[in-house]
Amino acid sequence: MKRRLAVLFVLIAVAGSIFYLNKFSTTDNHPILISGNTMGTSYHLKIVPTPDSLIDRQQLNAQITARLDDIDHKMSTYKTDSDLSRFNRQSAGNWVNISSETYFVIQAGQKISQLSDGAFDITVGKLVNLWGFGPTINATLVPDPATIQQLQSNIGYQKLELQEQPPALLKHSEQVYIDLSAIAKGYAVDAVTLVLEQNNIDNYMVEIGGEIRTHGHKNVNQPWIIGVESPVTTERAVQKVLHLGTAAMATSGDYRNYFEHEGKRFSHTIDPRNGYPIGHKLASVTVIADSCMEADALATALMVLGPERGMQFAEDNTIAAFMIIKQGNGFAERQSHAFAPFFQR
Ligand code: FAD
Repeated sequence: MKRRLAVLFVLIAVAGSIFYLNKFSTTDNHPILISGNTMGTSYHLKIVPTPDSLIDRQQLNAQITARLDDIDHKMSTYKTDSDLSRFNRQSAGNWVNISSETYFVIQAGQKISQLSDGAFDITVGKLVNLWGFGPTINATLVPDPATIQQLQSNIGYQKLELQEQPPALLKHSEQVYIDLSAIAKGYAVDAVTLVLEQNNIDNYMVEIGGEIRTHGHKNVNQPWIIGVESPVTTERAVQKVLHLGTAAMATSGDYRNYFEHEGKRFSHTIDPRNGYPIGHKLASVTVIADSCMEADALATALMVLGPERGMQFAEDNTIAAFMIIKQGNGFAERQSHAFAPFFQR
């Protein structure tokens, strides 16, 4: 019996020390890197521990994965059992209950639709799918103009009604199909940063599919240095270097997700006001805002509005926006006043 107890004690001690070492091993100042795939793209986290922080890397990883899976299962149009897909299948005139989290993101999207006068519009999903940028069809063909017109005239954020308690949605047109691709990735970045904060982590960079949030500092008292991608399709290059302290940043562009037909580029950003992919010279827009959800949606809104109206909109609303505009064989850059403080000095 004594021998058994002694063996048990040794086992507990070993298990305890493994657990302790697992936690202890991350208390040095080396950055912790976490990465994976979610929402049809990848994510990367960089965490800089402080000398007194005790981070259980495995547990943190599990919490982040669970959080991202949860958002994906609520807000994806790529999953048939998500909140969104259940609503999208429902016919007009019926209230559909949704999670309070999905409601929160949809409500935020509706506010940006109002602010941008419909340039940003989450009800654009059927047009996104028609142009081949959704979950079902691959983008290669230009759709029939009559079908575009028919869909365009039957969508719109005003055709979507929200009920706060219990959270529910109702569509006033059969063609309303919600697509949160231009806002939910940003929301997911915000949600992951909350997980980090609940774990008392102060210095971090979270990136999901190009949408980024930073807090605190990289190394000792150095700000996070983030590159804005050059809007070229042939390589991954940095156009501009930004110094971020605590900030959220998102970029929308026409250079990754598009198809070409008869020498013309058709991008995945759709102008809900005419039903066609944007056709101006704006190649990418980067927005810095308080939340990544807001930055994500505003970047798409500005991408739709284009270089002139978009920049005016940014100035009118004190939005920190950086635009890369096609000019001849190269690019021109333009920034709003609120963006200037983020450039490398
Ligand atoms: P952004 O500029 O941020 O958004 C562009 C997208 O927004 C378009 O592709 C379109 O869907 C939509 N949009 C276009 N015009 C407008 C407009 N005027 N107003 C509002 N929205 C507009 N992709 C996969 O391939 N597989 C997956 O399993 C998958 N799952 C996903 C799950 C979730 C929860 C989300 C949010 C996205 C998922 N995606 C998936 C989509 C993929 O990540 C998208 O490519 C991405 O969200 C688009 O982001 P972006 O930064 O490239 O473009």
